[in-house]
Amino acid sequence: MSNEICHPRYEEYGIIQWSNSRTIVVFSVLIINGSRLAKTRRKAEFILWLAQREQDVFGLGMVGFDLGDLPWSLDDFEKEKIFLLKVIESAKEELGCGVVKLGTHPEVLRGDLEDLRMLILNFTDEDLRTAYLLKEELKDIGGRGLPVEMPPQLEKCKIHRVLLTQYGCYVCNNLS
Ligand SMILES: [Zn+2]
Repeated sequence: MSNEICHPRYEEYGIIQWSNSRTIVVFSVLIINGSRLAKTRRKAEFILWLAQREQDVFGLGMVGFDLGDLPWSLDDFEKEKIFLLKVIESAKEELGCGVVKLGTHPEVLRGDLEDLRMLILNFTDEDLRTAYLLKEELKDIGGRGLPVEMPPQLEKCKIHRVLLTQYGCYVCNNLS
C-alpha cells in the first residue's frame, strides 16, 4: 500500500507514490526542517498540516494528498510556495538534521524530495484557483482533504524540536 501525492494536472506532471514507511521518513525530514524554518504562525500552519497526516489516525495509505489541498492562501500563494520549496531544499541538504535515524539511504531520500520539489515548482497560481473552486463546490458534501487544526500555542518536542500537533510529535510517534 502506498500514499500518493498528486499534482492536479497529473497527466503532465505525474503522481508520486511512496510506501507507507517511506512516507513517514519523507514527512519526518520535512517536518524537522520545516519546524526549524517556520518563523511565523502562518508558515507553521503548513508544517502542522503535514504533521497531522498520521497514518495511525487516518489509516495506512490514507495520508497522500493533492497539492491543491495544502492550506494555501490565494493572496500569499507565491510567498508560501517559496517557503515550501525552501523547506524541501533544506531537507535535501540537512535530511534529519542528526536528530533521528532515518533508515533510508540519503541519496534515495534526496531523490524523493526532488520529486516533491518538482511537483510543487510546477504548481501554479492558476492550479490553485482551480483547486479553490473545486473545494468550494465540494464544501456542501463535506469537502475534501484535511483542514489544519492550529493549536492555541506553538510548542515543540523537546527531543526532536518539531512542532507538536494534537497527536503529539510526528517523529516520536513514527520513528522512535
Ligand atoms: Zn519528538
